[in-house]
Amino acid sequence: MTTLIAILGDQLSHGLSSLAGQDKGNAVILMVEVDEETTYVPHHKAKIAYILSAMRHHAGALREAGWTVDYVKLEHAENSGSFNGEMARAIERHSPTAIRVTEAGEWRVRAMLDSWADRFDVPVSILPDDRFLANHEEFEIWAEGRKQLRMEFFYRDMRRKSNLLMDGDKPVGGKWNFDSENRKPAKNDLMMPKPLLFAPDAITAEVIEMVEARFASHLGRTDSFGFAVTREDALKQQAHFLDHALPLFGDYQDAMLTGEPFLWHSILSPYINAGLLDPLDLCREVEARYNDGKVPLNAAEGFIRQIIGWREYVRGIYWFAGPDYVDRNELGATRDLPSCYWTGETDMHCMSQAIGQTLDYAYAHHIQRLMITGNFALIAGVDPKQVHEWYLAVYADAYEWVELPNTLGMSQFGDGGMLASKPYASSGAYINRMSNYCSSCRYDVKQRTGPDACPFNALYWDFVARNESKLRGNVRMAMPYKNWDRMAQEDKRALRASARQFLERLD
Ligand SMILES: Cc1cc2nc3c(=O)[nH]c(=O)nc-3n(C[C@H](O)[C@H](O)[C@H](O)COP(=O)(O)OP(=O)(O)OC[C@H]3O[C@@H](n4cnc5c(N)ncnc54)[C@H](O)[C@@H]3O)c2cc1C
Ligand code: SF4
Repeated sequence: MTTLIAILGDQLSHGLSSLAGQDKGNAVILMVEVDEETTYVPHHKAKIAYILSAMRHHAGALREAGWTVDYVKLEHAENSGSFNGEMARAIERHSPTAIRVTEAGEWRVRAMLDSWADRFDVPVSILPDDRFLANHEEFEIWAEGRKQLRMEFFYRDMRRKSNLLMDGDKPVGGKWNFDSENRKPAKNDLMMPKPLLFAPDAITAEVIEMVEARFASHLGRTDSFGFAVTREDALKQQAHFLDHALPLFGDYQDAMLTGEPFLWHSILSPYINAGLLDPLDLCREVEARYNDGKVPLNAAEGFIRQIIGWREYVRGIYWFAGPDYVDRNELGATRDLPSCYWTGETDMHCMSQAIGQTLDYAYAHHIQRLMITGNFALIAGVDPKQVHEWYLAVYADAYEWVELPNTLGMSQFGDGGMLASKPYASSGAYINRMSNYCSSCRYDVKQRTGPDACPFNALYWDFVARNESKLRGNVRMAMPYKNWDRMAQEDKRALRASARQFLERLD
């Protein structure tokens, strides 16, 4: 009577639903590293190394906790390369009478798990993933019949449900959202916190060596690898963030500075998404820091909103929108992703900074993803599916359920406004306000046309003009169209010609 419990690469949590209530004496945990998962998009080398090393460490921790773990490494001679192939081989080894697995995080893997009962002729239990605050049904009930699915209203429900920062049925401080106090530009500051770097141990070093040999053509560096790969180390980064960066997290959430990849961000998403950290525990710690008077409300509320608001909301959208969401392209954008996304080689300083640090650390913070690389792809008219595949490949925290709505929905407006109320398109002025990038750029952010003009300027107006039939009716786009209407024909022509010339040179 053996139960085979399959644990996927983003299910590295001791309290996982598939493990709950199981008899360690009659269960075998199966963990497999397979080529199909490492290559369906060309993942950043550090992302592959992080996930495989975290899996190997987690298998060790489960064994220490008394579980029997059958672990198949990527380089195992008989590894079939696919999850189904490895399940078939494991069934031969263990002759299980039942299979258990926690539900998948994406449509592709869900379809695979759904096929197991027929394929293997063994009863399969697929358990809900209870590491989220809202389950699928709750989100559907919330979304059904609403004209607009705005995060802010969903977030308020999650505040009530979790009782985080609540004073009875009212939000602490009298407001749900303190963003008006956030969004300040930052200055270079010698006291700026730096995330902890974890030197690779023997397991991680072996994984890195294997990744460098096996995935040599993938982008990214591993010699700057500093991710935590155990829950203990991830908790150290969590504590470090709470002590040093959280107090100013809100103030500088949207800021960008040359040579400063991390600023006051938490750098916790890879750990939360893989299961090493519990998002709700983290939010309770943040709340406790506020209650103890150690962090201001704008920081605590701002951070908690990212987790129980945005993170939960994008997951809800991902499953609610269905498996065809990935093909949506409301603005009909068809340009190929420019090569600079893979190399970081471009004269646009903001782009080279955001892409350069992505290649170095498999990390960029939200505003870099949204308002630099995302904004550029949007206003240049790049095919949103190609943009999605890039984001999925390059960030250590990227899994389709969280990456796709953020990229295709929020950043590329590919879903026509299901997620975002207006496109996040901007000219260079926004980047100049929120960063110091422009002062080291070969382009002039104040110029709108001509060879030295910041490309974001003409591209922004070209985007507005190009998508007029789809966007003019959007009330939140009223101001850009008012400004466009006021412009002299000659200026409009010059802007569009400048954009065309730039795009013709873009490879
Ligand atoms: C185009 C684009 C693609 C993105 N792809 C991903 C992705 O693949 N994986 C991912 O986890 N996040 C993604 N995000 C959201 C966000 O950029 C990252 O969560 C954040 O940058 C992670 O860094 P951090 O841990 O330092 O975050 P912090 O700024 O410290 O924020 C705290 C936490 O809040 C959560 N969070 C914040 N914003 C979001 C959001 N919009 N959606 C979901 N969670 C959020 C994360 O868990 C994060 O760790 C994307 C955003 C954009 C605009
Ligand atoms: S001038 Fe334009 S391209 Fe250069 S850094 Fe500023 S926004 Fe980016």
